[in-house]
Amino acid sequence: MLEQDGNYSVHSTYKYCVNIRGSHDRYGVAGHWNQIWRAKIPPKVKNLRWRIGRNVLPTHKRLNSCGVQSPVQCAICNDAEEDILHVLFMCTTSRRCWQRAGLWNHVNAGLNTNNNIDENLFSVLHRLDKDQQEFFSVMVWSIWKRRNNQVWDNITDSDQNVVARARHLITSWRDAQQIRSLTNTVQTDPQQMIWVKPSHGRYKCNVDASFSLAHNKVGIGMCIRDDHGRFVAARTQWI
Ligand SMILES: [Zn+2]
Repeated sequence: MLEQDGNYSVHSTYKYCVNIRGSHDRYGVAGHWNQIWRAKIPPKVKNLRWRIGRNVLPTHKRLNSCGVQSPVQCAICNDAEEDILHVLFMCTTSRRCWQRAGLWNHVNAGLNTNNNIDENLFSVLHRLDKDQQEFFSVMVWSIWKRRNNQVWDNITDSDQNVVARARHLITSWRDAQQIRSLTNTVQTDPQQMIWVKPSHGRYKCNVDASFSLAHNKVGIGMCIRDDHGRFVAARTQWI
């Protein structure tokens, strides 16, 4: 009944369910959710941000409230009940990380007095520019990662590690996106595949490889040319 042609589709059913659920206060969580989905951050970080916003992270406090036997205290400081707000922002060790990352003033200003994690999350994000939002998100991921490393592997990450891991994640992810978009450009526009001479005093080595399933072998070829584009050496080989 949701489709004009009478055929079932996941798309229309999903929309239907979301509309029913969205109109129900118990399920709906207000906030700029599109901001999360549009952010240029790794999918695992988006997913974590969504889980935080929905208050479904398995913190000790939450596990206990669901009847799972576990300690209630914070796995890192062992000094307070472990809920999401504590792990991410209130724990003294997390605060030190935010300070080290240069975001504590923004985070602190965005946190409000109520314990509603989604309101706090959106309130902090609202105060940050796009770059800061991305860094904030990977920091959240890295702080939660520290908590899990402690709980599951008994590994204690330093504050420095937490910040460095976040920086590394966002930098390497951005680099990978750039390479991907460059690769896409080359693939979709063969006109741009023009050989260019190396700069003065340098050689250029072009390589290629092929794979033969039938012979279970790899063929490689390479060709070196100088800064005038003159042939220097070449080699091909079956391996
Ligand atoms: Zn703590």
